[in-house]
Amino acid sequence: MVISDLADVATPKTNSQEVDRPVCCAECRFMTTAIMIGNNFYHCPNCEADICLMCGCTANAACIGGCSWISPGICSSHKEELQEMARRVFGGLK
Ligand SMILES: [Zn+2]
Ligand SMILES: [Zn+2]
Ligand SMILES: [Zn+2]
Repeated sequence: MVISDLADVATPKTNSQEVDRPVCCAECRFMTTAIMIGNNFYHCPNCEADICLMCGCTANAACIGGCSWISPGICSSHKEELQEMARRVFGGLK
């Protein structure tokens, strides 16, 4: 049987629910990715600033209009986006 060989190859892909995507640090302009930021405890891998993994803003380079952290790595600019996502997932909620 060669099933175990196949399983080894398939596991890494089916396991990852995270979708990696490019994020540019608004403070130092370093191109990184959402997963790299997550692996670095929501700090920019280059300048170590607290960084939003959705849009790359930092405490010193906040979004237009200003923003605050609603959770590590996510700034308040994405609040409505996240609420919308929750509405879709849980359905029926107003
Ligand atoms: Zn940076
Ligand atoms: Zn953000
Ligand atoms: Zn922001």
